[in-house]
Amino acid sequence: MSVLIVGSIALDDIKTPAAEHPNLLGGSASYGAVAASFFSPVNLVGIVGEDFPKEHIELLRSRRIDLEGLQIVAGKTFRWSGEYMLDMNTRETRSVELNVFEHFTPALPANYKSTPIVLLANIAPDLQHHVLDQVGKPRFVIADTMDLWINIAKDSLTRLLGRVDMLILNDGEARQFTGETNLVKAARAIQALGPKYVAIKKGEHGCLLFGSDGEFFSCPAFPLEEIHDPTGAGDSFAGGLAGVLARESDSGPVDFGALRRAVVFGSVLASFNVEAFSLERLKTVDAAQIEDRSRLLRLMSQFETD
Ligand code: AMP
Repeated sequence: MSVLIVGSIALDDIKTPAAEHPNLLGGSASYGAVAASFFSPVNLVGIVGEDFPKEHIELLRSRRIDLEGLQIVAGKTFRWSGEYMLDMNTRETRSVELNVFEHFTPALPANYKSTPIVLLANIAPDLQHHVLDQVGKPRFVIADTMDLWINIAKDSLTRLLGRVDMLILNDGEARQFTGETNLVKAARAIQALGPKYVAIKKGEHGCLLFGSDGEFFSCPAFPLEEIHDPTGAGDSFAGGLAGVLARESDSGPVDFGALRRAVVFGSVLASFNVEAFSLERLKTVDAAQIEDRSRLLRLMSQFETD
């Protein structure tokens, strides 16, 4: 089973307290697609300009990522620049250049329209709607978002929630979107708008997964001594999660058990991703390392009394 991923494909300039690197491959769909590709084939929908380096296209192509839905058009690729503070959690956007994104209309190739699992990675909610308008009846639709859309496109985002099975966002965004301080209340408020499942990411403190009828799972973040670049952690989490759902979805329904497993693998992919800038760590990690870390993470989250 495949996963359909739409989102941004970017060239990023990143500054952390320790280092600064320009012109890196980034974007929610790049991280999401490579993370998902460890578990399932990916159908990618996005846009880049003619300046987009061929080596990045080759990386995506080498990973079971179908690029028929990738538009390469005249103009410059979307650019984003961010700076991390000393805690490596707080981030400031230094600049955004929409470039080819300004006139982007996602168009799905015919064979993408029946992809069973859909990940609407972080991108303007209107574009996420546009993708959903073109698909048949996916088994499971996941949406990711960011503070920017809560600020400037809240109505569209709120309507989107009525069309998705799961929303992924971070703790600050959940509070900002709902006006609730308490994350349990925030999750319930989001569920009341449509999604049966909500995943709230808390950076180094892990992730909370809310289902229906009180279903709840808390996944720790894998403890890392060295974090080099947090960029794309959320996108790798979402991509890994969606890829696992696609891998498992021919063997059973997308239920809370499947989502728990998917959240563990999503957290593992996020943990590898932050070990290096851009997608450098995702390029080198292998299936055995992913399995090992997921086993460790599952052990860490078990608590038994005797
Ligand atoms: P994350 O660290 O998971 O929040 O995602 C970081 C990635 O999001 C970067 O590689 C950026 O290129 C991308 N990004 C930043 N701003 C936007 C935006 N407004 N729309 C889509 N993608 C964005």
